[in-house]
Amino acid sequence: MGPTDRILIAGGGLAALEAVLALRGETTAEDLPITMLAPEASFAYRPMATRAAVGHGSHWGLDLARFAVDHRVELVADALGSVDVDAQIAITGGGERLQYSALLVAVGATRRPWLPGAIVFGLTEPGAGIPSLLRDLEHGTASHVAFVVPADAFWPPLVYELALLTAEYVRTASLVVTLSLVTQEPAPLAGFGPRASLAMAQRLRRDRVEVRTGAVVDTVEADRVVTLPALSGPAIDGLAADPDGFLPIDERARVCGTVNVYGAGDAVACPIKQAGLTARQADAAADSILADRGFRSRRRRPPAALDGILTPDADLLDWFHDPRWTGAGDMRPRSIWWPPPEISARRVSPYLRAVHGDWTAGDESPPAGIPVSLDLSRRGSPSRRHSSVS
Ligand SMILES: Cc1cc2nc3c(=O)[nH]c(=O)nc-3n(C[C@H](O)[C@H](O)[C@H](O)COP(=O)(O)OP(=O)(O)OC[C@H]3O[C@@H](n4cnc5c(N)ncnc54)[C@H](O)[C@@H]3O)c2cc1C
Repeated sequence: MGPTDRILIAGGGLAALEAVLALRGETTAEDLPITMLAPEASFAYRPMATRAAVGHGSHWGLDLARFAVDHRVELVADALGSVDVDAQIAITGGGERLQYSALLVAVGATRRPWLPGAIVFGLTEPGAGIPSLLRDLEHGTASHVAFVVPADAFWPPLVYELALLTAEYVRTASLVVTLSLVTQEPAPLAGFGPRASLAMAQRLRRDRVEVRTGAVVDTVEADRVVTLPALSGPAIDGLAADPDGFLPIDERARVCGTVNVYGAGDAVACPIKQAGLTARQADAAADSILADRGFRSRRRRPPAALDGILTPDADLLDWFHDPRWTGAGDMRPRSIWWPPPEISARRVSPYLRAVHGDWTAGDESPPAGIPVSLDLSRRGSPSRRHSSVS
């Protein structure tokens, strides 16, 4: 094996880890040398942030150095800066030139605030914004919270979960608080189909969350406003990008215009950014990398639709009442979307469950709910509108 037979994976997030596990599921380090290029020392499983935000549930994370040793991967602590596609060289931020035979770009998206004055979920240290919001509600320094669904939100159910979790919190603490959900959608989760939308509207009503649909977001009036970040793509020099910097990929998960550069996860052009989807894109990229090297013939394509079950009646804080609940690390999954992040990544989810040992796999069967299929062919990215909170 020559020095150019290197699979280079840029990123240390869910997409990168899922791809490493998929590649190592079929190859040894002797068959296929893998190098991971990641600027951070650890991996954090972001989808667990929602529940951890209200003070319950654990953060799943990993030391990347340990992961690299366990899976016989070389780890380079640096960032992908640009790519010389013709020479098959990745140039790092630190100026190193790494030759590759295949490059997987799994560097995620950049998160940025878009609504002045709002708490942007996921932009501060996990949990920092929401816990202070809950303290303000308890102390009476805020009594009206608006949860704003951005136009082209990367995963709209997140905002609904945050509103419902806060509603549960408020109810449990017997607080007198007004909660509202503000969205440009014509109805709650309108894009998820009429049944899902109606059920979500009923759930919000039951939990006393006021809903403003078809709303112009710059007229939000509340003591506190919570929203999701807007995302931008990585716009890697040398690779194609859409107007927002996201990488367009083909049905073999290759970045358009290249033959051996692949893309997966939040970095690629896709209207939804979500854990299960990220993992499936990473699995498809790993399949293509393996197939292109003759290790396997089966190739999964990057998904054209995201299928799941909306469970608007989920008891989001149900683990309080679960006899098995003994602490923050011992929760059971509760989410309005199935499969939830704890099980949605084919390889990373069981791996993290085993590492953290804090969840039983017995709940993997689909729950009763509303089947939803989301078309991923719609192109677009989160809005760059400028709005304000009054
Ligand atoms: C706050 C929040 C909550 C979420 N909650 C949910 C949820 O409840 N359910 C759900 O399904 N999804 C959720 N998501 C979406 C989900 O977390 C993402 O879709 C998923 O993490 C994307 O994985 P990724 O590996 O593509 O990107 P990331 O997880 O962002 O990882 C990117 C990695 O690349 C590294 N990197 C960055 N730049 C470079 C570079 N130039 N070179 C090399 N490496 C680089 C970063 O350090 C990081 O390790 C949430 C996202 C956020 C932000």
